Amino acid sequence: MAFQCQRDSYMKELVTSVVSCCPAGLKQEVNGKKETLKGFNVKLRDTILFPEGGGQPDDHGLIGEVPVLRVTRQGADALHFVASPVEVGQEVLVKVDWERRFDHMQQHSGQHLITALADVMFGYKTTSWDLGRQRSTIELDTNSIQPAQLQELEDAVNEKIRAHISVNVQLLSIDDPAVRSRGLPDDHAGPIRIIDIEGVDANMCCGTHVSNLSHLQVIKLLGIEKGKKNKTNLIFLAGNRVLKYAEKSYSTERSLVSLLKTGPDEHVEAVDKLQKSVKLLQKTNLSLLRDVAILTAQNFKNDPHRGNFFSFHKGEIPMRVSLLVLAGETQFNCFQETLVFLTVGEEKGAGLFLLAGPGGPVSDLGPRILELLQGKGAGKNGRFQGKANNLARRGEVEDLLRQHCKHHGSEEE
Ligand SMILES: [Zn+2]
Repeated sequence: MAFQCQRDSYMKELVTSVVSCCPAGLKQEVNGKKETLKGFNVKLRDTILFPEGGGQPDDHGLIGEVPVLRVTRQGADALHFVASPVEVGQEVLVKVDWERRFDHMQQHSGQHLITALADVMFGYKTTSWDLGRQRSTIELDTNSIQPAQLQELEDAVNEKIRAHISVNVQLLSIDDPAVRSRGLPDDHAGPIRIIDIEGVDANMCCGTHVSNLSHLQVIKLLGIEKGKKNKTNLIFLAGNRVLKYAEKSYSTERSLVSLLKTGPDEHVEAVDKLQKSVKLLQKTNLSLLRDVAILTAQNFKNDPHRGNFFSFHKGEIPMRVSLLVLAGETQFNCFQETLVFLTVGEEKGAGLFLLAGPGGPVSDLGPRILELLQGKGAGKNGRFQGKANNLARRGEVEDLLRQHCKHHGSEEE
């Protein structure tokens, strides 16, 4: 393929004509749901909108006033997906979303440069790469990279950028002996493109590249991650992404300064201290909660008019922990024949509940509670517990249990 965007990667507008416009669908994901958007695939006489290839994502742009949502490759042609049709034969002005494209050029040429130097300096071959929305990764064929090597590589890469080295595109015929035939797609059409970073690297590639390394501005190697078996992923940013990253980091830093009331150099220490004190508070809180539960239960036990029903609700405490604490200390230590109903959670929102007491009544009343609290749960051996989706009808549950106890009590008399 040889489109105008490959002959001149810096062209932002092109006058061309519409060759065909056919109904088509575009598969996409909206809020996690897969959908097929109905529209049209447009072929143009030539294009400056790059179809994805060589690890580089496709361009966005306009055909006239119609937004191009996706560009894909079909043999020697580029298919431009649009939502509304354009007239065949019509002359049109095509515009590329330059911010997106130039960003892709910086990441892609940056990858070629890093790949070349990682190989020359350390013998680490690139096995694949990914141009991500936020950051890009190069998969290197090595178990690990030492921090010193990473620093050396970053220095070398930026030195080449400062040396403002030309990047040229050479076109070779497919049977030129210089063409390395590896990796050519079966449906490859047109001449072979070699991206030549003068004196540094020459590599076959279909992507759009900067014309001079100085256009990369700067490259930051953020770090490494463990890759697939025996591989290491190198994470990098090129060009404007470095500036955006610095801007974002600075804004985060300002927020942390105001939240933590310390300078950036003390942030890690301050967060570490905070986490330790939160852990201590949680521990204290749990032990206080246990004390309250024991006291509440003892109060109940010492009340001569207590009857055989006990209900307790807690709102603002960590749910799972507190329910178990309350259950343990109230029911199983103090009572035998009492129905204990415990809930935690928001007054009229979701929460947890537990019904404990004599086995028979608990299994009878459990399902009724589920209904009232719109909950899910199960029980055995005198315990019925679960999640409540809505605690608003807690009062009705209490009425139900009270009535049962009354009834149960009068039977005994
Ligand atoms: Zn490439």
